[in-house]
Amino acid sequence: MTHRRMIAEICSLLLIISLCSCMDLGAEDDLQNAKAFLVKYGYLEDEKDYSKTQLAAAVRNFQWTAHLPVNGDLNDATVLQMHLPRCGMKDVSQTKWLHGGPFYTNHRRKRYTMKSKWYKRHLTYQILNWPWYLSSRQLRHAVKAAFQLWGNVSSLTFSEAAGDSADIRLAFFDGEHNDGARHAFDGPGGALAHAFFPRRGEAHFDNAEHWSLNGKGRNLFVVLAHEIGHTLGLQHSSFKNALMSPYYKKLGKEYVLNFDDILAIQMLYATEGAPSNGKLVQRPGKDFSMFEDWSTENSESSTKKTSSYCQSMFDAIMWDLKQTLYIFKGRNYWMISPSGNVSEPQLSQERWKKLPAFIEAAAVSGSDGKFYFFKGGRCWRYKGSRLEVGFPRKCSDDGLPRHPDTALYFKPLGHLVIFKGDKYYVFNEKSLTVEPYYPRSLQDWKGVPHNTNAALNHPNGFIYFFKGENYWTFNQANLKVSTSGKWMQDLSWLGCQNS
Ligand SMILES: [Zn+2]
Ligand SMILES: [Zn+2]
Repeated sequence: MTHRRMIAEICSLLLIISLCSCMDLGAEDDLQNAKAFLVKYGYLEDEKDYSKTQLAAAVRNFQWTAHLPVNGDLNDATVLQMHLPRCGMKDVSQTKWLHGGPFYTNHRRKRYTMKSKWYKRHLTYQILNWPWYLSSRQLRHAVKAAFQLWGNVSSLTFSEAAGDSADIRLAFFDGEHNDGARHAFDGPGGALAHAFFPRRGEAHFDNAEHWSLNGKGRNLFVVLAHEIGHTLGLQHSSFKNALMSPYYKKLGKEYVLNFDDILAIQMLYATEGAPSNGKLVQRPGKDFSMFEDWSTENSESSTKKTSSYCQSMFDAIMWDLKQTLYIFKGRNYWMISPSGNVSEPQLSQERWKKLPAFIEAAAVSGSDGKFYFFKGGRCWRYKGSRLEVGFPRKCSDDGLPRHPDTALYFKPLGHLVIFKGDKYYVFNEKSLTVEPYYPRSLQDWKGVPHNTNAALNHPNGFIYFFKGENYWTFNQANLKVSTSGKWMQDLSWLGCQNS
């Protein structure tokens, strides 16, 4: 490319970016998110201005890996793919992509010759913690089976360590967890887990997912088996059906490991000591039936018995001025009538256009009855189901925290209160600014824990805070928490007790 043409391309890219910023906040966000994604997963170098050509090349490489039509365009299908649940590990080592990508190198061959491996045959593992809603017996069985899967086709053997000197440690974390900003977990969806290549021996799982070992929710068994693959030294596979392909998949009916997975582990750890009858042996999927994803049929009939927000923490909760209770989780919301009837799950986006899935906080203003939603640094305001002009808006620019924990309308102050970590913010809905002298310390709310998941103002006068399986009621008269307990069992108005 000539110098002149390159300048022309950069100029046109700058033009596109500047047009985006004045035309549509959403499009600019998409571009920024796409760049962040391409950096995170190894398609672009960090902290650099990219030419249009570099960006297109990175998009092409990503499209190729994701089995999308390769054209270098950041089209809808490509952006959508970037939002699908996946492993948080890079797709390929950066240097390989930066020097051309899959069109120039045979990167699969390289995958098998990497030196990152264990130099012993027996490895021990340890499960440091797990979500409260999973039974320890079931979890340990799933972890054992996931290791066994790899042991069946290699010379490796595994056992759970009694002490704390295990080779491989598995743990669940929220958000940033001391292994660098790049590895910070991103809430439900997106990156589900990541691991470290030998011989660091760690796999981390996003605590914000609703993990499951028996159906509804994220199939933990599949993700365990995938991340364990990384701890043994395997990189991502470009084969769509391989367990080691980067995107989350449902558990297959026949086999968990694909031919490519087996080949990869056997290149690292020769098969001596493994079943050597010339046949690749692995457990057929039916032995793992207890970890299977539920079929659509099953999950439909099950929502009739108990709504899925009852299975683990929901994203947000609020009452409207007609005393209908709304519970948000993932892409769905449920309505509970004042008489306690629970609706079928509905798609949030069908009622509130442009509202993203997995919102972080929501509230109805007691002064005007409008719906407020918060996610990341942005906020949405709807009158009924109509998005108001000027929204979504970068509320983080107005002084609100990014990724708020929860929001509620607080009558005594006549405004929305937004909670984040150990602080709270009073948000004036008219001026869209944080009131003077805020944020203030959460100590003002005696007994309310940090980082709650949801909160609401109950018509009975109490404010309810939710975190994990617990809830707290806050008494507005003496500004103290008065009771606490387990919401699924204690709060019948949440509609979870018929399960
Ligand atoms: Zn992975
Ligand atoms: Zn981590």
